[in-house]
Amino acid sequence: MSFVKGLRCRECGREYPKEVVYVCEYCFGSLEVTYDYAAIKRVLTKEKILSGPKSLWRYRELLPIDGDPTCGLQSGHTPFFKANNLAKALGVKELYVKDDSVSHPTLSFKDRVVAVALSKAREFGFDTVACASTGNLANAVASHGAIGNFKRYVFIPADLELGKIIGSLVYGAYLIGVEGNYDEVNRLCTEIAAKYQWAFVNINIRPFYAEGSKTYGYEILEQMGWRAPQNIVVPIAGGSLISKIWKAFKEFHDLELIPELKTKVYAAQPQGCSPVVTAIKEKSEVIKPIKPKTIAKSLAIGNPADGYYAMDTVRKTGGWGEEASDQEIIDAIKLLASTEGVFTETAGGVTLAVTKKLIEQGKIPKNESIVVSITGQGLKTQEAVQNHVGGAKVIKPNLAAFEACFHQDQKSEERGQKTEGESKKLSSIL
Ligand SMILES: *Cc1c(COP(=O)(O)O)cnc(C)c1O
Ligand SMILES: [Zn+2]
Repeated sequence: MSFVKGLRCRECGREYPKEVVYVCEYCFGSLEVTYDYAAIKRVLTKEKILSGPKSLWRYRELLPIDGDPTCGLQSGHTPFFKANNLAKALGVKELYVKDDSVSHPTLSFKDRVVAVALSKAREFGFDTVACASTGNLANAVASHGAIGNFKRYVFIPADLELGKIIGSLVYGAYLIGVEGNYDEVNRLCTEIAAKYQWAFVNINIRPFYAEGSKTYGYEILEQMGWRAPQNIVVPIAGGSLISKIWKAFKEFHDLELIPELKTKVYAAQPQGCSPVVTAIKEKSEVIKPIKPKTIAKSLAIGNPADGYYAMDTVRKTGGWGEEASDQEIIDAIKLLASTEGVFTETAGGVTLAVTKKLIEQGKIPKNESIVVSITGQGLKTQEAVQNHVGGAKVIKPNLAAFEACFHQDQKSEERGQKTEGESKKLSSIL
């Protein structure tokens, strides 16, 4: 059972069969999977989806494989919740968090793309999978590839966070740390992909890989009760996720699974790597590549493959973009943790910091529904916050030691509250 028709060039529209091709041989445009939507509409109902597996494969009709899925059978179906404490802190009415920081098995939304890519790689007959990664994709290819008995070659910038490095090595993948940034890693991998018969999930089978991101969008619509939010903020690295969330929303609307679609899509990038947001703000048609410098390493792609489509999505929907400084990223990570109990990685810090900014600027109306896209896990990027959260109070193992410490802290807390209260009074007088 397959509803996949083939591939189509996103630029000139030329059609290709569903094979291992990823650029148009006429115009070098990137290719996209096409489906027989009329046939899908005949079978895909809300009831059908609701009775499906509790994984991203409940949307299997809209995913680009021919047979049954063979990878990522437990991936997707992550929490989605109304974030009332955070809403209060931001002064808004209706705020939701989509939380892929607890995705199975590697704690980022990259489990979705890899589940689809490796199921497809198996159908194509590959025994080896590979990727160029800013960290989370490396973890996902290493893990899912282990489950699927693939040989795995994983390429990353050598200076990634320890959690991302160990989080690839532990699965027994062959990990190559390249002395250079992601864009250099990617260029190298494009050369390797041309020479070796490996499925580079985000290079030569990228059209299939990218479709996995749609499931993040489908889940939001289903979990909101079959309706679309008025605003959604999405982090951008290569620009694929944001474009595919929008594709997912449009597909559900066309299939009449949601009644109306008026969502504005907003782009979030770190200040040290914001080529897409810069183009949005300057109303420019071209994405100027830059050299990344940010603590949000998972988003540090200076020359995003889908940058144009990301920008186009934001523009078409009437959204906007903002950037977050390193300090704002750290503050936002702490804000999400202390209000909603979710520890996200730096990418999530970028997304929340940008959400806060866009609300303050009035770009996102305070009385509308807002979804914050959390895509990764904070335990993987502890370096970012380790000097910003204080330390444990170390004591001798007896009650007196505890009470000495506790009473001293309470006193200084009281003093702090008093001075805070007094200064508030003072500022209202002034
Ligand atoms: C890869 C990644 C993104 C962005 O994905 P793109 O599709 O490349 O734009 C966002 N958040 C996290 C945590 C990621 O690892
Ligand atoms: Zn073309």
